[in-house]
Amino acid sequence: MTSRLNRLAVAFLATALATLGITVANPAPASAAMTICYNTSQAGSYASVANQAASIWNNATVNLTLSANCGSNLRIYQITGGGSYAVRTSLGNGRVYIDTQQAAQYSVLRIMTHEIGHILGLPDNYNGNCSLLMSGGSAGTSCTNPYPSSAEANRVSNLFAGTFSATDRSADIFRDSWPAALAPVS
Ligand SMILES: [Zn+2]
Repeated sequence: MTSRLNRLAVAFLATALATLGITVANPAPASAAMTICYNTSQAGSYASVANQAASIWNNATVNLTLSANCGSNLRIYQITGGGSYAVRTSLGNGRVYIDTQQAAQYSVLRIMTHEIGHILGLPDNYNGNCSLLMSGGSAGTSCTNPYPSSAEANRVSNLFAGTFSATDRSADIFRDSWPAALAPVS
């Protein structure tokens, strides 16, 4: 009842102001979050890893939601050999390939969240820092951190709010260096 009365009061006030020639700007509409439907039909045993990675990105960001089984903005593949990589066709759209050979050495969840990071507009930053997701394999096989830093997550949130350059949104292929561990010297 109270909210109805409030709405009536607001409507009356707006009408009164309009009568006086004063227009009231509408409040800014809530930005519509982009839903990125990801498809794991080709992800093999990594489908559950993809779901975990989607949850990590959803928890860390705003303005986008990764959602399973609603379409195919993002297709995830399990491959063997050739290295993990991401093909971004546009911001939020593309394909991610996870190499089982790299996943045997590195945290497969870190690989998955990293490759999805490319689809979400992030470039590589091979500085060896394990606290950064986009440092990828440069942080070594002991680095299992699957979480984007706050800076990385904020950049994605801002990209999906429409800020930053066209470069981050453009089509690109990210062939990843998750270097194979050196074979033991015999
Ligand atoms: Zn990468």
